[in-house]
Amino acid sequence: NLCLLMDTVIVTGGTGLVGSAIKNVYQKNYKNYKFYFLSSKDCDLTNFEETKKLFQKIKPNYVIHLAANVGGLFKNLQQKVQMYEDNTLINLNVLKCCHILKVKKCVSCLSTCIFPDKTSYPINESMLHNGPPHSSNDAYAYAKRMLEIHSKAYNEQYNDNFVCIIPTNIYGPYDNYNLQDSHVIPGLIHKCYLAKKENKSFYVWGSGKPLRQFIFSEDLAELILWTLFEIDEKESIILSVKEEKSIKEVAEIIAKEFDCKIEFDTDKSDGQYKKTADNSKFVDLYAKSKGEYKFTDINVGIKKTIEWFKKNYDTCRK
Ligand code: NAP
Ligand code: GDP
Repeated sequence: NLCLLMDTVIVTGGTGLVGSAIKNVYQKNYKNYKFYFLSSKDCDLTNFEETKKLFQKIKPNYVIHLAANVGGLFKNLQQKVQMYEDNTLINLNVLKCCHILKVKKCVSCLSTCIFPDKTSYPINESMLHNGPPHSSNDAYAYAKRMLEIHSKAYNEQYNDNFVCIIPTNIYGPYDNYNLQDSHVIPGLIHKCYLAKKENKSFYVWGSGKPLRQFIFSEDLAELILWTLFEIDEKESIILSVKEEKSIKEVAEIIAKEFDCKIEFDTDKSDGQYKKTADNSKFVDLYAKSKGEYKFTDINVGIKKTIEWFKKNYDTCRK
């Protein structure tokens, strides 16, 4: 049986936004690996015994660790205890099991929203622990920061190969489109869809002025696979486009697709004004390994995402 000879890869959070994108793209270059895309139905990763049992059954050679309790600004504000506890437990259990099962490499996912609030820009990988995160998401951020500390500790003490990647804001098919809890792009797509359908106003929360760097989920998926298989690097890497877009610009792209008019609800929070991330470490490493990475244009990425959302409206997460 060929499968028994193949290296195996566990993708935790394999049913989420990023996990689904990896599922869509891995066969292009990595079809000689046996991938397992896990969801919370396969195993509750907050439970150590369950996690260990599943890892012992699959015996992964590689792990892509994406699973997390994730949300946009408003979920982070309202559910601090769950964001802290779930993420701390999930990360602790997954890394511990990677170590026990002696995986060759584990790539885990941080986020640029966990960087210090008061900082100079652009932020780079070396600045992650240089001060408290924004108070809106401090519980989530500290849980995530410890994932880097924990990975480093395993590398230093046991010579494991655990690396963290740091993506900026991600969007794409299979996202969570919940009106309250989602990130900005899926939230705005859903709101604009409803506004158009019900002939009502399309409200963008906040002033529209904050700036973000948005990466299409399939681009990130390719770059995570590249990090896992193509480079030898143990220190964290920011995976991001260079350009920043304002929330207003993004809302305009969405409004144009639906032929809708924008209004701003300035009673809602803006969150952090910006968190400009420096992608030069990634650009240099990628140039040495493959050349220049061509990111999906945000107009194209949003268009694809809206098409997927409309097609899957009845069944998508919302
Ligand atoms: P997502 O769409 O919300 O998916 C989360 C995944 O984690 C799902 O597969 C979910 O399984 C799984 N999961 C959650 N709790 C679990 C548990 N207790 N046990 C087992 N599995 C559990 O997340 P995403 O947006 O793809 O995010 C992937 C990674 O990127 C996360 O580490 C996140 O912090 C990071 N990130 C995301 C963004 C962004 O803009 N989305 C930005 C920066 C970084 P079910 O399907 O069964 O619920
Ligand atoms: P963040 O990058 O971690 O702050 O996450 P978000 O994806 O939640 O983006 C938040 C920014 O988008 C803030 O400036 C919000 O005021 C703005 N925003 C506008 N409309 C929405 C919406 O419908 N949902 C969310 N989550 N944010 C919105």
